[in-house]
Order: sequence, then C-alpha cells, then structure tokens
Amino acid sequence: MGYKTYTCPIARQCGGCEWLAVPYPIQLRRKQEAMERLFADVLGEDGAELSPVCGMEEPVGFRHKAASPYAPGPSRAQRHGHGRAHMRAGFYAAGTHRIVRCDGCLVEDAGLRQVLNDVARVADGLGIRPYAEDRGQGTLRHAVVRSGWATDETMLVVVTNGELPRSREFVSLMRERHPELTTIVQNVNTRRTNAILGRQCRTLFGPGVMHDKLLGCTFEIGPTSFYQTNPAQTERLYSLAIAGARLEDGIRVLDAYCGTGTIGICAAAAAAREGRRIEVTGVESVPGAVACAQRNARANGLEDRCGFVADDATHHMRSLVAPNGAGAPDVVILDPPRAGSTPEFLRGVVDLAPRRVVYVSCNPETQRRDLDELRQGGYRLESLAPVDLFPHTKHVETVATLVRGDGR
Ligand code: SAH
Repeated sequence: MGYKTYTCPIARQCGGCEWLAVPYPIQLRRKQEAMERLFADVLGEDGAELSPVCGMEEPVGFRHKAASPYAPGPSRAQRHGHGRAHMRAGFYAAGTHRIVRCDGCLVEDAGLRQVLNDVARVADGLGIRPYAEDRGQGTLRHAVVRSGWATDETMLVVVTNGELPRSREFVSLMRERHPELTTIVQNVNTRRTNAILGRQCRTLFGPGVMHDKLLGCTFEIGPTSFYQTNPAQTERLYSLAIAGARLEDGIRVLDAYCGTGTIGICAAAAAAREGRRIEVTGVESVPGAVACAQRNARANGLEDRCGFVADDATHHMRSLVAPNGAGAPDVVILDPPRAGSTPEFLRGVVDLAPRRVVYVSCNPETQRRDLDELRQGGYRLESLAPVDLFPHTKHVETVATLVRGDGR
C-alpha cells in the first residue's frame, strides 16, 4: 500500500510547499531525523528524551493566514478580450518577485485565496492601480487575510502605498462578494522595502481586529500582531510548553517574547482550571502587541495575574538581574523569533536561576546554539518535543524543557 500524497498545479513554480511530493509520514520522519542529528550530543549528554514529531492528521487547509502581492499585469496590447485582470495576484515564485497565479491553495483555509484574488478584481474594476515595485508607484501592494479557527471572524488587511482611492466602494464591493469578512483594515506602507506591512493602520470597516480561541482562551488579533498561522498545531505546541512548565500554585512565570500574550494567558488559565494561581509577566518589544496582550488578559478574566511590559527582552532581563530588580521568576518561558535569544538574556536566566526553563523555538538551529549557554550555566535538557506547524516545508518548531542541574 502506497502513501497518500497531495498535488498542487503550481507546486513547482510557487515553491511554498517544497516537500509536497514527499508523503507526509516521510516528511515527519525526515524532521525527526533532523532533530536527532542536530541535538544528538545534548540528548546523549543530558539523558534527555526526544519525543516523536507531533504531526497533523490531515495536513491540508491548516493555514489561517494567507497573503498576496499585487503587481501590474500584461499591458492592454498583450491582453486578449475581457476578463483578464490589469494586475497579477498570487505567490512569488520561489526566490523571485515574479507572481504565480493561484486559484486555490491546498494548505490554506478554504476561501482565503478567493478573497485575495477578488481584491485584485475589485481594485481593477475601480481603477485602483497595483504597486510597481521597480518604480515605487501605484497603490495596491499586498493583501493579507486571516480567518478564525475557533471563531467565524475574518479580517482583510489591504496594504497600500499611501491613500486608497474609492475606499468606500472597495469595501462595499468586497463585502458583497465576501459576507464572511468581519473587518477590513488599510495598512499604509510607503517604504521601498520587502517588508509587507507598514506602521500605520486605518480601519475601513468593522472593529479593526478579530478574535480566535486557543485552549479555551479568547485572543484579539490586530492587523499587525503576530499570531501563529496554524492554530490547531499551536494548541499542541502550547500544551507541551505548559506541561513542561509544571505550573505549581503560587509560582511566578516570565513569558519572554510573548507577542499578544497567548502562551502566558493559556498557562494562567490552565493553572486556574486546576485551582492554582500563577503570576505571569509577559515581555514583548512591539507596543501594539503588548496593548493587545493586556486586553487579552482582561477578556479572559486574568488581568489580576497576567501583566505585560513593552520592552526588549534582553533589556527587561537586565532590569530583573539588577540589584533590587523585580522578583525573580520560578519558571521562564521564551519563544524568540528565528534569530533566537541573546547571550545576555540567557546569562540573565542563569543568574536568576528559575527551576525550569521552557524554550519554544521556530528555529531549532538557533535554539541548539542557545541551549549551550543555559547548559554551561548549569541547566540540563530534560525533554525535547518537535511539533509540525508547517507541513510540506522543512520547518519544525520545538519545545525544549530544561531544569537546573541540581534537579530542584
Ligand atoms: N509567544 C508568541 C509570539 C512568538 S513570536 C506566540 O506564540 O504567539 C516572537 C515574538 O517576539 C514576536 O511577537 C516579536 O515581536 C517578539 N520579539 C522579537 N524580538 C524581540 C525582542 N528583542 N524583545 C522582545 N520581543 C521581541
């Protein structure tokens, strides 16, 4: 009996799902072997356990966020007849800025691609021009759409190079085609950069934010805030992190690189459900995400035990280790971006000597590097659990649980 495989008409050009031709069980095995290799010495020296990669049952339709760039299409002379758009939409071909059209994407939540393609059609009809990267001219740069996993909310963000002409008509035509849209936000990005989003947002319709639920907690998601794209697997990732933290009554938890506070809030809620009270402090460098985290704590009735600060994680760590610094945490959870943490942050952790450190990572290479700093400071890797948040790609997330060498 052969393995089931998935096909996509544009897989070769798009390159987003580079492992699509590889049967899913073999993808998981490859990820497992990669983790075995990368962490071999640590696992051996520390006597730590590597659990099997936590994969998805059916790895399709799992992305709840989709995006498209827009660019000028073929000239009038090149276009034959009607119905051809003046602008292109889809995915950048791997390693280029050439746009490959996409009518439906296997890994995205159903309907999201349609919204992105309709943005092009509606904008075209209204004479809204796509952005020409080479000249820095035109209006419509990108659109990002996100759908709730546990809610029916859908947020569309259109990224423009300055003003959006005929924005009211744009909104009403989009809503007509897509009644599922619960909010539409314009984000302005006038910089000549590859970054999709700019700093300024303007709500064109609805509340300007959306909500989703993870592990029974409700989270507000803003147009520019970080929120995992695969919520089903995120629940499993967070559950592993929470289990690794061993949330005893009365402990203090630092949730570093906390984004909108999702891990810390889920942890406090999980403890509360079992009659335990923990104090969470989240630290995050994006002020908008911190404000969002504070609202999230309140929305879940946990504001008395979850506080958030807008600060660089390393800078915050420095303030904790300073003489008379705020109380030392009993558990540190960190979830840094791909570049990993800093030696100074990690040395700060060692100085504060929390009982447990739970390191959630989207880049095991930098995590592997960072583990050494903690291990040299007397921590021992207890367990390592990989989770597949990005099927059909080489990426894997990991939860590393460390304890102080004396085991207390
Ligand atoms: N734990 C959150 C977010 C993880 S993504 C979640 O699971 O959703 C990493 C987060 O780290 C992002 O929100 C990013 O804005 C933040 N970040 C990046 N560099 C930082 C730094 N130097 N100090 C604090 N936060 C930082």
